[in-house]
Amino acid sequence: MGEKTMPITGGCLCGAVRYEAGEPPHRVEYCHCRMCQKNTGSAFAVSAAIRADSFRITSGEPKFYKSSEILERGFCANCGSGLMARYFDPDHPYVWVAVGTLDHPEDTPPTQHFGIESQVPWLTIDDDLPRARSEDDPDFIAAQTAAEHDQD
Ligand SMILES: [Zn+2]
Ligand SMILES: [Zn+2]
Repeated sequence: MGEKTMPITGGCLCGAVRYEAGEPPHRVEYCHCRMCQKNTGSAFAVSAAIRADSFRITSGEPKFYKSSEILERGFCANCGSGLMARYFDPDHPYVWVAVGTLDHPEDTPPTQHFGIESQVPWLTIDDDLPRARSEDDPDFIAAQTAAEHDQD
């Protein structure tokens, strides 16, 4: 990804919400956590961490849903496409963008699996990428615990 200098662009299924970023992603990962499964309706999410100060919405306005104490997830209110997640902490350096909504997802291959403890057993992973459990990320555990309490 290093030599790519073109801005990243993407948008939702219906085209109402469009975004761009001036820098390539810092990291791209599969996430198998339960929150991403629910949010995408799929077995896992593929998300790219993009510097928040290089990311901007260029048309439309995503609607946001607070999915945990630390972040909210943005989606198109017209077509329902999940687009992004952003942190409430204004100093957090990254937003997470749904790789499937990029105009060129082929340019941003994932380099690791996260939330591997929730991997569905019928999904065969045949790559050699690193696999991390959610408890390896203290921020994630704090968020998930808070989200579970919200459901009580
Ligand atoms: Zn849309
Ligand atoms: Zn996740």
